[in-house]
Amino acid sequence: MSELTLHTSSLFDPKQKKFLPDVSISVDQTSGNIVKVWTRKAEREIKENDIDLRGKTVIPGMVDAHTHIFLHAYQERPSLNQKRDESAAERIIRSVNHCRKALLAGFTTYRDLGSESMGDSDANVRDAIARGLMPGPRLFVATKVIASTGSYEPRTENGGDGHVCLPAGADAVDGVEEIRRAVRRRIAAGADVIKFFADYRRRIMRYPPAQQHPYIHSVKFPPANPNPDVLLFNQEEMDTIVQEARLAECPVAAHCGTINGTLCAIKAGVHTIEHAYFANEEVFDQMIKNNVVFVPTLSVCEELHPKRLEEIKAKVACAHKKGVRLACGGDTGPVPHGSNARELELMMEAGVPVEDVIEAATVGGWDACGGDLCGLRFGWFDAGTRADIVALDTDPRDDRQAFRKVNFVMKDAAVYKKDGKMVMLDE
Ligand SMILES: [Zn+2]
Repeated sequence: MSELTLHTSSLFDPKQKKFLPDVSISVDQTSGNIVKVWTRKAEREIKENDIDLRGKTVIPGMVDAHTHIFLHAYQERPSLNQKRDESAAERIIRSVNHCRKALLAGFTTYRDLGSESMGDSDANVRDAIARGLMPGPRLFVATKVIASTGSYEPRTENGGDGHVCLPAGADAVDGVEEIRRAVRRRIAAGADVIKFFADYRRRIMRYPPAQQHPYIHSVKFPPANPNPDVLLFNQEEMDTIVQEARLAECPVAAHCGTINGTLCAIKAGVHTIEHAYFANEEVFDQMIKNNVVFVPTLSVCEELHPKRLEEIKAKVACAHKKGVRLACGGDTGPVPHGSNARELELMMEAGVPVEDVIEAATVGGWDACGGDLCGLRFGWFDAGTRADIVALDTDPRDDRQAFRKVNFVMKDAAVYKKDGKMVMLDE
């Protein structure tokens, strides 16, 4: 057992939601756990080889509760479709870079919700990180998402029978028996979380100028919403997803756009709701009643639906006020990896107090990963929890951009960043 001791002068305890002075922490580099947390009485407790984080703001390693390691920002190469035009090798190499950036940005855990046409490779990247082959956050992965036929998958209308234009993004299944099998298939493939789409577009681009099929020259009376999200599964099917995942003690995340889809997913018993940009008070009340974690993904909203951002921030403020359990997840990927802190900033902009935001980005993230179902404890400072420790150069109570100024990163008791620079590990 090799022990390391860290000393802090301002440490945020997310369980008490308080900044505490003079806390010291011992970690065990063999197990990767925190051994002891105590309040320092005297200067002489600080030894020569200890890590001195005094003068910085220390928080637990952050959790991004909604990511896609194989995606990068759409605007980086707007003319191409990543899933179709980038090779599997390129996408894996990109994921290596994404994971390193995320870790150095202070994100020690990623809940990666869908491999986006990379099959089960997210489980392999997770294992490569766990085996020390590359630096990155601890991953909890979904492998392929579950959706129904003709929804979150390539369009087939021009491809002829059985041909698809893009590699499949989802495990497309219909009816309770297929769904049962699909959930078992995901767990066999190494999924830590089951992700399904409660609603989505069923027949995309159905009217000019984007329409493809059937071709119509002009539309005098276009529908108010030409491309609506609709339910992908009926209640019985959603119930089956959750019941089947429960047999394996696996948490379930639901992508939800509509109010109806969100309510059905909550009723089915999902663990987390993703996005829910149309959520209302009824939805939030149901979330509270059913202990659902809400991951509002404000960062991707800012990227993709900037016109609705203020309205959606107000919804998050309402959810927080009511007492909905929040977690920070950016839908990172479309939002660049390494800029994960944007989600925390947007939550603060929405009016959530900084203490609650840090809690949502740490303990809230652990909750989103399934809490004790995920097999580990992380996101706060206690003996036996993983030694994930981040130090910021500034105090987020004074500096709204503090979460971007990451000076020090420890994950599983290993130091990856010190004095603002990456630490090269042997092996
Ligand atoms: Zn996503």
